[in-house]
Amino acid sequence: ARREGFSSIPNVKWEDVGGLDSLRHDFNRYIVMRVKKPQYYEGIGMNLESGFLLFGPPGCGKTLIAKAVANEAGANFIHIKGPELLNKYVGESELAVRTLFNRARTCAPCVLFFDEVDALTTKRGKEGGWVIERLLNQLLIELDGAEQRRGVFVIGATNRPDVMDPALLRPGRFGKLLYVPLPSPDDRVLILKALARNKHIDSSVDLSAIGRMDACENLSGADLAELMNEAVMAALDEKLASIETTCDTLTDTLTIRTSHFEVALTK
Ligand code: ATP
Repeated sequence: ARREGFSSIPNVKWEDVGGLDSLRHDFNRYIVMRVKKPQYYEGIGMNLESGFLLFGPPGCGKTLIAKAVANEAGANFIHIKGPELLNKYVGESELAVRTLFNRARTCAPCVLFFDEVDALTTKRGKEGGWVIERLLNQLLIELDGAEQRRGVFVIGATNRPDVMDPALLRPGRFGKLLYVPLPSPDDRVLILKALARNKHIDSSVDLSAIGRMDACENLSGADLAELMNEAVMAALDEKLASIETTCDTLTDTLTIRTSHFEVALTK
C-alpha cells in the first residue's frame, strides 16, 4: 500500500466510473480543462471555484471520481483521510496540514483529496474541543491562500454534510457542493458495464437486465462491485472443480456467465 499523502497520477479513468455524468461534466469544466487548456480561462471575468465537497451515501463513487478527475487532468493525486490528520500529537496536526498543502503546491497540478473530511470539521464549540478548532483554523488558512493555491484543487468527501462546519463550505474553500447519489436502475447498469470492462463476460449475459432487477434495488456502486466479484468467484470455483475432474490445466480466459451472476445474487 502507498504511504498516506503520497502523490502520483491515479490509474482510474472516466470509463471506470458508471453514471455520474453531470459530475463528470462539472469537473471537466472546473478542473480538467483548466489544467489542460488554461488559455481558455484567461479573461473569462470570473473566479472559478477550486474547492469541492462530494457528499452522499457510502460506496457510490466519491473516491473513484476524484481519482478519475486527476487522471483525466494528468494531475497528481494526494489522498488523505480526515481522521488520520487528527491522530497526531497536539500541535502536530497543524504542521501536518501545512506540510500537506506545501506538498500539493510542489507537485501541482494536483488534486488534494480529503476523505471523511467531516472528521476534521465537527461544528466548532461542540465535541472535539480546541484540538479540532486549531486544526480547522489551519485548514481555513491554507484553503484561503488562493493565490498560492494555483493548480491545487481540493476535493472533500463526506457521508455527513450536516456536521460540517459552515465556515468550510464558503466559496474558495469546499465551496461547490456536489451530490453523489445512490445509483438509479439505469445507473446500476452503467456501473455494471464499467465494472465489466476488465473482465470476460459471456456475450449472452444481459447486464442491463441484471442491473434493473429488484434484487439490485438500493445497491451502491460498492455493492455492485462486490456482486461482480462474487460472480467472478463463482466462475472460478466452477472452473477449478472442472479442472479437478478432467485433470485439465487452467489455460483459457475465465468467462463469466449468467449462472455465475445467479449464484452471486444469492450471496
Ligand atoms: P465512502 O463514502 O465509503 O468512502 P465512496 O463514495 O468514496 O465511498 P468509492 O470508494 O469511490 O465510494 O467506491 C468504492 C468502490 O465501489 C469503487 O472502488 C468501485 O469499485 C465501486 N464503485 C462505486 N461507485 C461506482 C461507480 N459509480 N462506478 C463504478 N464503480 C463504482
